[in-house]
Amino acid sequence: MLKCPTGSNADEWHLFLSEYKDALPFVADQIAEAIEALERQVYVPGLWRCPKCEFRLRQATHYAATGTVGARDEPGDKCPNCNGPLWRVSERQAGNERGKRCKQELERTWMLDAVIEKQALALMKIRAGSANPVQIARETMDASAEPRPPDLGPCVLTG
Ligand SMILES: [Zn+2]
Repeated sequence: MLKCPTGSNADEWHLFLSEYKDALPFVADQIAEAIEALERQVYVPGLWRCPKCEFRLRQATHYAATGTVGARDEPGDKCPNCNGPLWRVSERQAGNERGKRCKQELERTWMLDAVIEKQALALMKIRAGSANPVQIARETMDASAEPRPPDLGPCVLTG
């Protein structure tokens, strides 16, 4: 008697099904359960997006008795901007967005550090009497003189 395969080896499944044709409903149930399990791993529970306007919805349920919050993962909500259906967000999409936001925050931090450094240097020059405060103020207001952040390159998950 053949043992029912449990893995993803197609040859084992072909052999099993050729021997046990009456097992097809069982195998269909196994496939459906496996697909549902994979979907739970691929999509972020309760996170939805509009493909047109990029609106984001995080569905959640607040459990008053325990004070906890859990993901509510139910399709059917519409985009409040486009009235279109919302799509699930995959772990890959969510990871790429986190990487993009992280890159933006790094650039912002770099810019703020550069501005602080520039203003601290100007203040030191003014205090030392080696610079004209009006000229320093003009230079500080000149946006074209602002430093540019380094190119951090793409921040995208692949593979
Ligand atoms: Zn929309």
